[in-house]
Amino acid sequence: MSGILTAIKLREAGFTDFAIYEKADRPGGTWRENRYPGVACDVPSHLYSYSFAPNPGWSHVYSPGPEIQAYFEDVGRRYGVTESVRFGEEVTRCAFEGGRWQLETRSGTRDEADVVIAATGVLHHPNLPDIDGLADFAGACFHSARWDDAVPLDGRRVGVVGTGSTAVQIVSALVDRVARLSLFQRTAQWIMPQQNPPYSEAEQAEFRRNPALLRHIHDELSRLFAENFSNAVVDAESPQMKLIEEACRANLEGSVRDPVLREKLRPSYRAACKRLVISPDFYEAIQKPEAELVSEPIQRVEAGGVRTRDGRLHELDVLVLATGFRADRFMRPMQVVGREGTRLDELWAERPIAYLSVSVPGFPNFFMLNGPNGPVGNFSLIEVAELQLAYILQLVELLRAGRCREVSATAEATERFDVARTEAAKKTVWTTGCRSWYLDARGIPASWPWTFDRFREEMSRPRLDAYEQVP
Ligand SMILES: Cc1cc2nc3c(=O)[nH]c(=O)nc-3n(C[C@H](O)[C@H](O)[C@H](O)COP(=O)(O)OP(=O)(O)OC[C@H]3O[C@@H](n4cnc5c(N)ncnc54)[C@H](O)[C@@H]3O)c2cc1C
Repeated sequence: MSGILTAIKLREAGFTDFAIYEKADRPGGTWRENRYPGVACDVPSHLYSYSFAPNPGWSHVYSPGPEIQAYFEDVGRRYGVTESVRFGEEVTRCAFEGGRWQLETRSGTRDEADVVIAATGVLHHPNLPDIDGLADFAGACFHSARWDDAVPLDGRRVGVVGTGSTAVQIVSALVDRVARLSLFQRTAQWIMPQQNPPYSEAEQAEFRRNPALLRHIHDELSRLFAENFSNAVVDAESPQMKLIEEACRANLEGSVRDPVLREKLRPSYRAACKRLVISPDFYEAIQKPEAELVSEPIQRVEAGGVRTRDGRLHELDVLVLATGFRADRFMRPMQVVGREGTRLDELWAERPIAYLSVSVPGFPNFFMLNGPNGPVGNFSLIEVAELQLAYILQLVELLRAGRCREVSATAEATERFDVARTEAAKKTVWTTGCRSWYLDARGIPASWPWTFDRFREEMSRPRLDAYEQVP
């Protein structure tokens, strides 16, 4: 998503001498890798689209993953990006030497660049759980982002570890196909109800005829998301947050009949403290006779299945680890070496830091899309990346116009930003008492803690006094 976007916008801005490196053999990133049953976006598709490439053909309000993958491939082709991507090339090292970035790839290719934009993703490196005996399992076991299509599922006993957005989508998609589905829950999740009707042919035809209507829907969804969701999560006491909590509570209480199961499914923390799970049918799925919610903690995995702490063995043929991603890795393990040999790994040893999510002090002419402390969660990350890229291109313009040779955030501006965002995070719903992948080791959320409007405003124009510009 971010790489294709960058190529399109660079070309639009008149840059022709650029290269896109992609370690896989085709585009798509997240949507290429996450092929699990039920994969879909949980931001409406007309918002989860590039603003400049609306798609009249989305089949549903929230479309399935393969359609999203096809959309990115189509945009890449239509805008002439795909043929200029160097597939199968993993960048392993970027070092700022002699005023330019020296790149190395795993295959030994070397390249030189004035500017590097890291569009390497945020939910990219699978987080594998540390469960005793995992390697002893005799059946098939894989992470949800490494789905093994060769493994049959129909009529088999499938275990799913985790209860985040991915696990919930898998449970709903698989429950009618398998003999038994065991969902291993460490933490219950609030579930926001969702309507996901298909778009009729007539609606799709109207979208095709009327591009202005599609643009209007995109902008209106963006406004609604900012007002009703993005602004709610950054103010735990806001009226919008109360509405979200109420909707989740009513969903649980109105959908789950068995009081014992209902209490097992009731979280002990506030809605949206963890990334909000959105589903039209999870509660229905988990109440089916083939499904079992296992809330007893896992003790270990054995050849035959998962043994829980109460001594029970849950016999399984397939074990799916829907255990999320290492969201603090960003472009690592790529080695990034800045001015005077400063290693990003060392600078980020405790936690990733960046100014406004796009620039790191001491790493001139190096920018990130969806980097640390930007908005994540239930936003459209496409919208986030578009805003960030427009901002980055204004900095790149300083280089192109010869205003300076090197530009990177100052250490002071970065420190001020870090202090301010840490303080602002105290008001967010993410710090109201839950464990989540938003939180760093200190319990501070690594996500943008202000409103989306403020993000938009910050991204509209760089404050040049926050940047060191070397002539
Ligand atoms: C299951 C799932 C559902 C999601 N649903 C939503 C949603 O509903 N709405 C939303 O906004 N977001 C969602 N996201 C977040 C999603 O990751 C982003 O929306 C978006 O797809 C990220 O695109 P990207 O290009 O920035 O990163 P990625 O899609 O992660 O792509 C990064 C690319 O960089 C390549 N790469 C990485 N390192 C290197 C290297 N060193 N050398 C060469 N190539 C490299 C990778 O192979 C990959 O192709 C979801 C994520 C997941 C996992």
